[in-house]
Amino acid sequence: MSSPTTYHPDLLAPYLALPQGDKVQAEYVWIDGDGGLRSKTTTVTKKVTDIGQLRIWDFDGSSTNQAPGHDSDVYLRPAAIFKDPFRGGDNILVLAETYNSDGTPNKTNFRHHAAKVMELAKAEVPWFGIEQEYTLFDQDGSPFGWPKGGFPGPQGPYYCGAGAGKVFGRDLIEAHYRACLYSGVNISGINAEVMPSQWEFQVGPCEGISMGDHLWMARYLLIRIAEQWGVKVSFHPKPLQGDWNGAGCHTNYSTKAMREPGGMKVMEAAIEKLSKRHNEHIAVYGEDNDLRLTGRHETGHIGAFSSGVANRGASIRIPRHVAAQGYGYLEDRRPASNIDAYRVTAIIVETTILDK
Ligand code: ADP
Ligand code: MN
Ligand code: MN
Ligand code: MN
Ligand code: MN
Repeated sequence: MSSPTTYHPDLLAPYLALPQGDKVQAEYVWIDGDGGLRSKTTTVTKKVTDIGQLRIWDFDGSSTNQAPGHDSDVYLRPAAIFKDPFRGGDNILVLAETYNSDGTPNKTNFRHHAAKVMELAKAEVPWFGIEQEYTLFDQDGSPFGWPKGGFPGPQGPYYCGAGAGKVFGRDLIEAHYRACLYSGVNISGINAEVMPSQWEFQVGPCEGISMGDHLWMARYLLIRIAEQWGVKVSFHPKPLQGDWNGAGCHTNYSTKAMREPGGMKVMEAAIEKLSKRHNEHIAVYGEDNDLRLTGRHETGHIGAFSSGVANRGASIRIPRHVAAQGYGYLEDRRPASNIDAYRVTAIIVETTILDK
């Protein structure tokens, strides 16, 4: 039986193999009014080698919670290009920023501000690496692969697990990893998480504004691929109540000075600054993060800043190997799985480099 969302790779394959002449399909991808992802396609007359060859486009913002009906045009300004793993060839994915008709950034366009911040801080060469955790669900709303109406055994065997009954959805995750590599997303690894059907991918290190670009495109690829599997991806920080781990977006961070001998001192100074703006950071570290940052399940409590070497119960952790070496990077463990990476990377730079 075919449902409307069933994917038919066998039927589709011969059409995708047809020649498309010199023309290229450009899939414009943007963040909608609720932090979800949307996309639509336009034909471009020839292969795109520079972002300047792509037009500014528009869409109906009243259908995406981004504009009122009487003034509904929202503009898409191309910001980054990736290869399209679904259509292959010279076809591309175009991450676009959204602008209102008066030229101001749309309410969920946090890239606009972040790009300015990264420009001001570029002499410090900020690098980021984000660990995106997420959870897979069946169409019926139950966690993917869990016994219907019941629960799998308690957490323990699933983290980095191998073997039947310990991992759920590995084929989907493999497809996503390879699609990221093909597209040019700087994916650096994957692992199965503590809660069954929860996974993580890491993107980075990425310099400045590109962290947000690569993370958002990695998410887009994931939800498009999961669509083919008939699986829903949840970025909620606490998708299931009870003794199940929440989902975060640990944000690893370094500047040039932190990556060089003596870097430990620079990291300590940065942590001191971060400690003074805990609430400002928490405000942009994801919705419902209070459900996750309980001080349990490898988190620090949302109400108190803490830091430590190798401490997974702290707000900021310095990895053991970094402390031993004396330089490297720090890990901000507070951001939730549903963050906007542009907001998180921007505020980290504002606090630690621009002294806001
Ligand atoms: P964890 O031990 O917390 O699970 P992971 O291996 O999942 O760590 O993720 C580490 C992340 O740190 C990766 O995304 C990687 O790209 C990033 N990273 C490595 N070196 C740096 C650095 N110097 N600056 C910023 N991020 C870095
Ligand atoms: Mn139309
Ligand atoms: Mn990790
Ligand atoms: Mn993890
Ligand atoms: Mn981590």
